This record gives sequence, structure tokens and C-alpha cells, in this order.
Amino acid sequence: MAEHSFKYIIVGGGVSAGYAAREFVNQGVKPGELAIISKEAVAPYERPALSKAYLFPESPARLPGFHTCVGSGGERLLPEWYSEKGVQLHLSTEIVKADLAAKSLTSAKGETFKYQTLVIATGSTVIRLTDFGVEGADAKNIFYLREVDDADKLYEAIKGKKNAKAVVVGGGYIGLELSAVLRLNNIDVTMVYPEPWCMPRLFTAEIAAFYEGYYANKGVTIIKGTVATGFTSNSDGEVKEVKLKDGRVLEADIVVVGVGGRPQISLFKGQVEEEKGGIKTDSFFKTNVSNVYAVGDVATFPLKLYNEVRRVEHVDHARKSAEQAAKAIIAAEAGKTVEEYDYLPYFYSRSFDLSWQFYGDNVGETVLFGDNNPASSKPNFGTYWIKDGKVVGAFLEGGTPDENKAIAKVARALPAVEDVNQLAKEGISFASKI
Ligand code: FAD
Repeated sequence: MAEHSFKYIIVGGGVSAGYAAREFVNQGVKPGELAIISKEAVAPYERPALSKAYLFPESPARLPGFHTCVGSGGERLLPEWYSEKGVQLHLSTEIVKADLAAKSLTSAKGETFKYQTLVIATGSTVIRLTDFGVEGADAKNIFYLREVDDADKLYEAIKGKKNAKAVVVGGGYIGLELSAVLRLNNIDVTMVYPEPWCMPRLFTAEIAAFYEGYYANKGVTIIKGTVATGFTSNSDGEVKEVKLKDGRVLEADIVVVGVGGRPQISLFKGQVEEEKGGIKTDSFFKTNVSNVYAVGDVATFPLKLYNEVRRVEHVDHARKSAEQAAKAIIAAEAGKTVEEYDYLPYFYSRSFDLSWQFYGDNVGETVLFGDNNPASSKPNFGTYWIKDGKVVGAFLEGGTPDENKAIAKVARALPAVEDVNQLAKEGISFASKI
């Protein structure tokens, strides 16, 4: 069986891998020194497109349109870019064994990959209802969404069903984005989630009330406070009904499940230090094993701004952590160091005509500002989070590019707030003054 040897290997070929490769090349890595090994059949791409433009009824986004690093406004790294730069892409190659002591990886096909420095960028995997033994959860037309193959299957089902009924299980950003795009495809959509409102880990009740109202106006039915406990299927094994814990039964031709993910770190269990469900790193994304780094969704890293360690499952951090690791690796070889990672958490989502951004930390008391009427023709509202008398987080729906920059700035600056009522009155102009 083939044995390959590289100075640098990135295991995983998602968002972080693409941004790390670009940075390695910027840092002067030579042809033949770097390889990316990916389970997926395609070069790194901007994963967030899969729950948005990829499923649009008209002119859906397709590769090569959204390869990294186009999502942050950079150069699109087509497969040719990797060959031009001498970065080897080992695609459709799943690593099934990692031996960090021997600096060796083994693929499902039995190939061996030796490295001097390893970057772990294996991202997350979806949590499946079959993991909990939910009755009938292995029926056909129950979909999950993580990789481009999953999106293709869902797209085919959407196109193949006329007057279809879909049930979306989960009220997080995947559930919200997919419900919107299913509606755009003229599908009858019901969302089901157990929490009292959608996106409960970030949204306040007031923020959620806007989105739930807006979705209802678009024809999405929302059932809260209950979960799917089972599925029935027809004689072809295709899902037919979703049984809810509260006794209701919903008809469904398509079910999409978005109930969260978990970092893919099982390959490295017992070989590397873990914390908060991820691989523990320092501010340079270096693990406790020499010459092994971890970036993106799998890394639990020091969040300097809040003086604590966290794992962040968002694309902006995937990009930035990858760049930081590549810079730090090259600097360390020259006996130098780079500045510590100083990340400002940033999340965003887009659905229908809506677009929100959030920066900072969602802790403490909240102040809502602006027009959060779901029937408004141009919704534009936001929320500040205030802790210990300072603004620590800011959310904005429908902001202009300048307003979005302003909320990023306010979350970083942590300005003092003297009068909460005044803050509510000032709204976005408070951030714009910073
Ligand atoms: P990934 O991009 O997931 O890449 C991991 C790669 O590793 C994959 O190619 C996988 O196949 C490969 N891999 C795993 N195990 C192995 C193995 N053993 N051998 C070989 N290869 C392996 N974030 C936002 O901030 N905003 C959004 O709007 C947003 N939308 C999203 C929509 C969807 C549908 C999904 C799934 C995620 C979305 N995210 C969003 C989250 C964001 O995409 C992730 O945080 C980001 O992709 C993480 O990057 P990563 O490189 O760590 O992992």
C-alpha cells in the first residue's frame, strides 16, 4: 500500500483547511510540502452556502462557485490553485487511524500518510435521531445537512416532490435557514422544536418573536415545546408521518433534522488533551502534543477577550483560527512567534430577505432597540447585551455594512452604559458613535 510523506498535513478538507492552505502558501510553503486529506470528494468550500443558496429554486449556487476563500471576499481556490501551488489534495480519503506518537495517519483504503506537523481540521458531524434510537428514524427522505453530498440528496428530494409537506426538526440556525429555503421551493413547512423559542442559545424571547412572526407570515407553521418521538413510513420505506411527544402526528414527505453537531475528534481520543468537548489548544492552536495543531470546530482555545476557553462552531472562527495556526507554525520554525489569537465571536445567518449579525458575548441583561415588528416592510432592529455595566454583545437584523461594522466595534470596545433607557432610545447610533 502507498506510503506518502509530507512536511505538513491538514486532516479534514473543509473551511479551515482551505484558509490554512492559502496562509501556508502565503507564508512560503514550497510545492510538495503540504497535503490536505479529505473524506469529501471536492476541494475545500464555504460550507454555509449549503443551507442557503445551494437549495434556491432558481440559479442555485454550485461548485466551483463557492470554494474557499471566496466567502470572506478573497481569492477563490479552485482545484487548479492547489496543483499550481503544489498542495496535494487527497480527496475521497477518510482517515480511520491516527497515531500521533508515530506521526502517522492511515486511510480507509490502507494508505499511510507521514507528517512532521499535523493540523487537525475535521470539523463537526451531525447528531442523528438514530443515535438516540428514535423509532423509524432510518426511513428514507429523512435528511441531515453537513456536506455537499447531503445537500445534493436534499435538493433532489425537493425537486422530485410536487406539493410536498416537510417537517423540520430543530429550531437552531440550520432549522431556520432550511425552513426558509424549503418555503422558497413552495413546500409546506412545519418546524418542530422543544424550546420555548427558536435559536434559544443566542436569541432572546424578543428577538425570536420577530423571526417566528416573520416565518409564520411566510407560511411556516411552528410547533414549539415538543419533540419528534417517531416516524412511520410507506411500503417503499419513505417517511410518511412524524409522531410528536405531545401526541400530534404530522404528515411528511420530507423531514430535515437539524438538532446540532459534535466535533469529530474520535480519531485522536486518548492521544491529545481535550477540554469542553474539543481538542485543547493554546492561542496558536497548538495542542499538548508537539507539532500537532487543531483548528475550526474541533478546537477549544483561549478566548482572550473574556479570559476563558471556548469552542466555537462558526465559519468566521474556522477561517481565522486556520490562518493563525499556519502563521504560528511557520513562525515557530524560524524560532519566532506571532501575536496571540484575540478573537471577537461573530455569528451570522441569512434567510428569506433577512440577514442578522451578532458580535461578542450574549450574557447579562438585554436592551432591544428598533423596529422588530415582523410585518414591517424593512425590519431593522437589534439588541445589546450588558454585563457589569458594559456592552458585551450586539445583535442587528437588517443592518447596513456600516452598522454591522459598528456593532462589531461596540462588542470589542466594551463601552460603559450609564442609562439603559437612553441606550434603547439611541439604538444603533450608540454603536455608530464608538
Ligand atoms: P468543516 O468545514 O466541517 O470541515 C471538516 C472536514 O473534515 C470535512 O471536509 C470532513 O469531511 C473532513 N473530515 C472529517 N473527518 C475526517 C476524516 N477522518 N478523514 C478525512 N476527512 C475528514 N457558520 C456560520 O458562522 N454562519 C453560517 O451561516 C453557517 N452556516 C452553516 C450551514 C451548514 C449547512 C453547516 C453544516 C454549517 C454552517 N456553519 C455556519 C458552520 C460552519 O460551516 C463551520 O463552523 C465550519 O465549516 C467549520 O469549519 P471546519 O474546517 O472546522 O470544519
